[in-house]
Amino acid sequence: MWRYYEQFRCHQGGGNECADQLAKEAITKGDPSLLPKPLSYLKVEIKSAALSIWQDNWDNGETDRSTHDIVPRVSNKPVGWNREDIMFVTGHGHFPSYLLRFNLRTHDNCSCGEKGDPIHHATKCRFTLSWHFQTPTVSLKLQWLKNILTNNLSRTRLRLLMRFICDENNLIVEDNNRALIHPD
Ligand SMILES: [Zn+2]
Repeated sequence: MWRYYEQFRCHQGGGNECADQLAKEAITKGDPSLLPKPLSYLKVEIKSAALSIWQDNWDNGETDRSTHDIVPRVSNKPVGWNREDIMFVTGHGHFPSYLLRFNLRTHDNCSCGEKGDPIHHATKCRFTLSWHFQTPTVSLKLQWLKNILTNNLSRTRLRLLMRFICDENNLIVEDNNRALIHPD
């Protein structure tokens, strides 16, 4: 009964104070029918709160920091990256550096002798010359990555490079370490 009284009072008085009061009572008394705002509004509010928590976790996380640098804001909309793009940005792929991280190798060297991470294969490795990009300076690395991902030609080249690394992984990964990856 008090609910109708409160709603009546709202109509009489109006204003945010009343709405806030009803919302507060709805929360403390746990009755959804008391909420003074439509469900669609609540959905937006919940979505916004969820995004805010997600953003906070994303900002304060410890993994995938390279991805955070390029995509600092969380969103429900896909960034439009395919498998190869993700592999390059996150470093999660057939790279010696990644294989070492998961104890699938004893070191992170490429067969050419240098550290086998995505930047190495994209700029210096002698096995991937056909798809090389100019080596970025440390301070411009982020912009360099963004440029590759937003330029169609660069992106195509990057995808071809990643496919090559997957298809020709025997070339990148030294034979004496392959026993760890393929125990048979
Ligand atoms: Zn190499």
